[in-house]
Amino acid sequence: MTYRAEYIWIDGTEPTAELRSKTKILADGEEPGIWGFDGSSTNQATGDNSDVVLQPVFQCPDPIRGGDNILVMCETLLTSDLSPHPTNSRAATRAAVEKYGDQDAWYGLEQEYTLLDPETKWPFGFPPNGYPGPQGPYYCGVGALRIAGRELVEQHTDWCIAAGLKISGTNAEVMPGQWEFQIGPAGPLEVGDHLWLARYLLYRAGEMFDIEVSIDAKPMKGDWNGAGMHTNFSTAAMRESYEPIEKACEALGAEGVPAKHLAGYGVGIEDRLTGEHETQRFDQFSYGVSDRGASIRIPWQVKQDGKGYIEDRRPNANADPYTVAALMLDTVGAALA
Ligand code: ADP
Ligand code: MN
Ligand code: MN
Ligand code: MN
Repeated sequence: MTYRAEYIWIDGTEPTAELRSKTKILADGEEPGIWGFDGSSTNQATGDNSDVVLQPVFQCPDPIRGGDNILVMCETLLTSDLSPHPTNSRAATRAAVEKYGDQDAWYGLEQEYTLLDPETKWPFGFPPNGYPGPQGPYYCGVGALRIAGRELVEQHTDWCIAAGLKISGTNAEVMPGQWEFQIGPAGPLEVGDHLWLARYLLYRAGEMFDIEVSIDAKPMKGDWNGAGMHTNFSTAAMRESYEPIEKACEALGAEGVPAKHLAGYGVGIEDRLTGEHETQRFDQFSYGVSDRGASIRIPWQVKQDGKGYIEDRRPNANADPYTVAALMLDTVGAALA
């Protein structure tokens, strides 16, 4: 008897990396070991030295195939010495965990995305060649005139739960055709592994329903919300008292730090962080209680309780969760060490 392992990895597509996957048939009882692929077809190698190594790092049940079949998230390694491939962003998260893992960081990532008509590339739910009424009724909306794509969203949620991913909620977003799911709370490596596999399942749901899924940060120019990946973050100390929360905010605003973070927060930051549509401008830094126009929001409940977490509102929907997790842990971990 056999089972199937879907090996999934992050490629070298510029400017935003994409997911790739292929299937390995394994004998019952056989573990999914190291494998490889043709990096010259994924912008990860040249044709004369094309092999890239796949190192399994996280696996879960495959909710699409069912049975004993599994999904396997992989890191990419160089054949020369099995060191991380330059596009292997998970390696930086591992390094941050080595330094600050004892602070027990938790993350909650809010992945926003937009459903598109695969032919017109126009958001699902927008009338063909036209625009829907202005934003207002769509966020967490109900009803055929407000909502498009809910069947896909429900399918995706079912799959995430069946796979054992730490999905914690979903909601319709401010722009029609735009949705969100959250992963967390989860640790620094875990949140990235779960989010990338949840993205994989989302694209697979898109195949099933023939709807294109986009994590573009500003799919519609003009008076339409962009798509972000708000990053909720805490360490054990932040979950115990308020002072480390303010310390974390100050560290994130220290000289040179905002620019360093924004460089890892995804493509098209300037298009989305305009100071409009519930964002702070990309060239300004601020933090505040309940403030959805700040770079960092301290939730009202956190101020009330005198402990909890902060929300970094800047990461784009197309950011790499491994990179975002490493930046947060490096900056806040160092400040609270
Ligand atoms: P918003 O009000 O900004 O829309 P959401 O409810 O969409 O927030 O997302 C909040 C996320 O933060 C959830 O994934 C939740 O699990 C996560 N979260 C809750 N508590 C913590 C914590 N202490 N540290 C990190 N993340 C947390
Ligand atoms: Mn949310
Ligand atoms: Mn949202
Ligand atoms: Mn949020």
